Amino acid sequence: MTRSITVLGATGSIGDSTLDLIRRNRDDWRVEVLTANGNTDKLAALAREFGAALAVCGDEGCLPALRAALAGSGIVAAGGEQALVEAAMRPVDMTVAAIVGCAGLAPVMAAAERGGTIALANKEALVAAGDVLMAAARQGGATLLPTDSEHNAIFQCLAGNRIEHVRSITLTASGGPLRTWSMEQLAAATPAQAVAHPNWDMGAKISVDSATMFNKGLELIEAWHLFPVGLDKLKIVVHPQSVIHSMVEYRDGSTLAQLGPSDMRVPIASCLAWPERMDTPCTPLDLAALGQLTFEAPDEQRFPATRLSRQAAEAGGAMPAVLNAANEVAVAAFLAGHLSFTRIAVIVEETMARYAPSAPAALAEVLAVDREARAQAQGLLETA
Ligand code: NAD
Ligand code: MG
Repeated sequence: MTRSITVLGATGSIGDSTLDLIRRNRDDWRVEVLTANGNTDKLAALAREFGAALAVCGDEGCLPALRAALAGSGIVAAGGEQALVEAAMRPVDMTVAAIVGCAGLAPVMAAAERGGTIALANKEALVAAGDVLMAAARQGGATLLPTDSEHNAIFQCLAGNRIEHVRSITLTASGGPLRTWSMEQLAAATPAQAVAHPNWDMGAKISVDSATMFNKGLELIEAWHLFPVGLDKLKIVVHPQSVIHSMVEYRDGSTLAQLGPSDMRVPIASCLAWPERMDTPCTPLDLAALGQLTFEAPDEQRFPATRLSRQAAEAGGAMPAVLNAANEVAVAAFLAGHLSFTRIAVIVEETMARYAPSAPAALAEVLAVDREARAQAQGLLETA
């Protein structure tokens, strides 16, 4: 049976992995919408290849280029933030949410309110909107399938079990490329060094997040919303080989883990095929060749991000949205060469310290908090 699919963020790393799987199973899927931000050449080429009905660029200024690139194809072109939201509202069987950052929130909310099945990679949307997004998904009758490898692992380890029987959930973290660096070395880390992840090939923003450990912090908040066991039952362990993607411990002492190659096509395939399974071209695990799996506690002195993220979750309300917004601003500044690596966490902590408690109840309020926190963080960058 052919199913329809929309890929939000089709030109990125998760988009590439998703479309690779669709390409190998062309007859199973009808592509409805593909979106990007400004990379109109790649978007148009993908829209033509997959026969999409609609292609949308988030950057409205790129619409003329997208129209030109799609001329004669019969594919409708659209541009701008509202066009992304309208695209996400079109009924499809599966929406892959793979825009990076809070920019993906409004389209994810639209998909959640419509009530389809959403493969959620865009963790910043869930971190920023938290309860608002979860409530929209519940009310819309949407199914959220966690695509982030850790959350997909937990989702798989929970299948067939009751959440009340969970004693703890452990998120594994690779520790990133700078895991063993001293504070002095970290202060001098360059963008090229920070994005050179040892195990995963990802977009620039999440690669920096992996190096700072904000990725794990965001994932802690993501897990807190997806799996309601309480913050105190969520743990983090550093596991540099990225073979165990996360674990669930039950009251009887059984710990279930999900293992796999560090290739996002595995968790994406798990979402695309759910509740069935599908083939992937990924190299199977060879445990004998790997030899050893190792574990260590996170070092929150050198990498304060997980501590700050736990604090943000404990504070609740809009604090996780503030943390996320400040991190997005700081990471962009770091990638542009305007901020040192170790100052990313400082900017986040200082922005959080300026937070006036609020509990957003709707998308517009979350977006207002996001804008305000960005302005705060930007101000801190400029006065630093
Ligand atoms: P990426 O930078 O490679 O791709 C991001 C996509 O979002 C691109 O298609 C880009 O055009 C689009 N985009 C960026 N800014 C936009 C905007 N303002 N408006 C509209 N579209 C915009 O990122 P990625 O690595 O594919 O990550 C995507 C999401 O998935 C992130 O939230 C990330 O945390 C999450 N994730 C990624 C991986 C991975 O392995 N790459 C793993 C787990 C989770
Ligand atoms: Mg992850």
